Amino acid sequence: MPGKTNRNEYGMNEVKPVDTTNHSFPVLPIVLAVILGIVLGHFAPYLAVKIKIIGTIFLNLLFVLVIPLIISSMITGISGLGDIRHVGNIGLKTIVYYLTTTFLSVVTGIILVVLIAPGKGLTGETKTFPDSEYEIFPTPISGGSIVRILDPDTSFNINIDPSKNRVELIDQRLFGIIDPDGAIKTKEIPVIKWLDSSGKKTEPRLSGTGIGTSALVKRLSGTELMNNYIPRNIVRSMVNENIFPLILFSLVFGGVLSTVGEAGIPLLNVFNAMNVTIIKCVMLLMYTAPLGIFGLTAGSIGEAELTLPGGFITELIRLAKYAITVLSGLLIHGGITLFLILAIFGKRNPFRFFKNMIPQILTAFSTASSIATLPVSLSLATKKNNVSERIASFVLPIGATVNMDGTALYEGVAAIFIAQIYGIPLGIFELVIIVLTATIASIGAAAIPQAGLVTLVVVMKSVGLPVEGIGMILSIDWFIDRFRTSVNVWGDVIGSAVIDRFEGNIED
Ligand code: ASP
Repeated sequence: MPGKTNRNEYGMNEVKPVDTTNHSFPVLPIVLAVILGIVLGHFAPYLAVKIKIIGTIFLNLLFVLVIPLIISSMITGISGLGDIRHVGNIGLKTIVYYLTTTFLSVVTGIILVVLIAPGKGLTGETKTFPDSEYEIFPTPISGGSIVRILDPDTSFNINIDPSKNRVELIDQRLFGIIDPDGAIKTKEIPVIKWLDSSGKKTEPRLSGTGIGTSALVKRLSGTELMNNYIPRNIVRSMVNENIFPLILFSLVFGGVLSTVGEAGIPLLNVFNAMNVTIIKCVMLLMYTAPLGIFGLTAGSIGEAELTLPGGFITELIRLAKYAITVLSGLLIHGGITLFLILAIFGKRNPFRFFKNMIPQILTAFSTASSIATLPVSLSLATKKNNVSERIASFVLPIGATVNMDGTALYEGVAAIFIAQIYGIPLGIFELVIIVLTATIASIGAAAIPQAGLVTLVVVMKSVGLPVEGIGMILSIDWFIDRFRTSVNVWGDVIGSAVIDRFEGNIED
């Protein structure tokens, strides 16, 4: 039975992999959807923008699965380690290895995305007119003011949302909080208060040159931040899609559940069943992916045609740079960092080890699922690379579900890439939060195609980035997924060799 929990020889729970072999995720329809989307977006941009709704529906359906997916996969994942008090040495080593390599992987990705800056200077919701003159008129009744563009050739986007956007006075380095009750016009925006870069309320000069709008980054106070991370109401966290406390709650809950013995088994079965069902929902939803991806690609190419000076070529170049950033990160982590870890800590010849694992990498590449690859990983690790079965059978199944170096790297890069496009500045604090949440989000991602895309929401939300931005990378996600899954399973099998060595079994 898929998802069934058994005790292994150490008394630990083993979560049996979900059978994904009956489900194929045909790449061809998705490739065709992307091509058709590009063609439609290019030749009929107005129609394409209308068709985007299909993509938005698909995206909403993905998001609706996020919360149940996180709760069930985290609880079954942690309790899969068995009674937390008796997991002992192997469990500890496994956790340390997985966390360390995932962390190294995210850091590699973040260094690359900050250096390459694939999203810098590209168009998101930020619109700036550095040469346009403006005037500010105080409005005594509301206590605020109205900012008006004087330049006849520039205008504000009337779809500006006061909860997501702000006005920028470029020459004065001030930001205006838009009045949610005021009317936004093509030349005028009502502002309730002006803030300087440190967030202090201030009075602006009444005219100047250089105006724009950008995404609003909400800075939380200390108490708000604490309430976000240590909630007093877990249901409210779910309603607010506040993911981080849910992960913490599920981890602690799953850990404690694993210690209550027989009494906890019915509940464990419930979460197992929930997990299996949600994974199946994701799989079913993926059958509609070609349609959704068609809508989103057509929509974003259509929008690019209508708004970008360079048309959709600019859009393609934007995604190409993003893809190159993710793929070089994966190459560095998979081809250098993990090779070195295997040679130094696993005391193995990494080239021979890799050669023996090529069928595993190709299986991961073609299925885009770590769980579907597990049988291949297990048999090659033990039969070809002589990792002891005792270690491999414990380390690899857990690795397939929780250890995803490639996914973590991709999530960090994708979040920062989207922030760059929207022109949202990220400080060192935000980067640290991204490193931590990308690590956690990769643990929470199910080992099935494009699950990383679902948990990317966690990373985006943790630093207040607009989740709608995920739509911008969706068209090529099926492609990136194959590479990140390959690195995910490669990291798992190296983990089994390293832990094997520390358990006293050295191959060569
Ligand atoms: N497809 C990946 C895996 O199974 C997860 C993801 O990043 O989407 O490992």
